[in-house]
Amino acid sequence: MTTVRENLLKIKENLPESVTLVAVSKTKPNSLILEAYAAGQRIFGENKVQELTQKAQELPKDIEWHMIGHLQRNKVKQLLPHVALIHGVDSLRLYLEIEKEASKLGHEIAILLQVYIAGEETKFGLDEAELEEILNLPKSNFVRIRGLMGMASFTENREIISAEFNRLNRLYQKYALVHNFDVLSMGMSGDYPIAIENGSTMIRVGSAIFGTR
Ligand SMILES: *Cc1c(COP(=O)(O)O)cnc(C)c1O
Repeated sequence: MTTVRENLLKIKENLPESVTLVAVSKTKPNSLILEAYAAGQRIFGENKVQELTQKAQELPKDIEWHMIGHLQRNKVKQLLPHVALIHGVDSLRLYLEIEKEASKLGHEIAILLQVYIAGEETKFGLDEAELEEILNLPKSNFVRIRGLMGMASFTENREIISAEFNRLNRLYQKYALVHNFDVLSMGMSGDYPIAIENGSTMIRVGSAIFGTR
């Protein structure tokens, strides 16, 4: 059986320096997270606010917690004190809620705008018009938009996945300079090499590190 440490090192071995690895630890116990931590991993991703805040309170304080899942507006306030980057901002209303709560906290929150790229109906995300609407808002003192996030279709077809990531990368490039983007979050256990080929700067990998959920 391979260990968390071995899985991590194997992924990192082939990772370009420009790509940041988020270890997706959702549903996994603190003991496994600490194994990854001992192997040098400091960035972890969770998709439930309750689970993220609990783990953040229990685990070492130099861990950077990323919220990668769908975020409900009524959970924003609870999340903000613990989160380093919110990947899945997928509506104007959610953006405005984050802005409101961040201004109350008085510190800047980094986010990514989630863009809908998959052919499936089930995935969350903004379309291009909704993306522009948020990017055209007056610049916020409390929300820093660091870039874009997307999820490809769940398929074995590499061409489809590659085309979807490529489309997201083109959108990213379109806005990157003007908006000072530095994060393009795309790629999971099953498709991160294709995402990297298409310009990803941040991959979110769970099962390839911690085993199946
Ligand atoms: C669960 C999850 C991942 C990681 O998925 P794996 O296939 O286990 O690597 C990445 N991104 C999001 C948004 C997720 O919810």
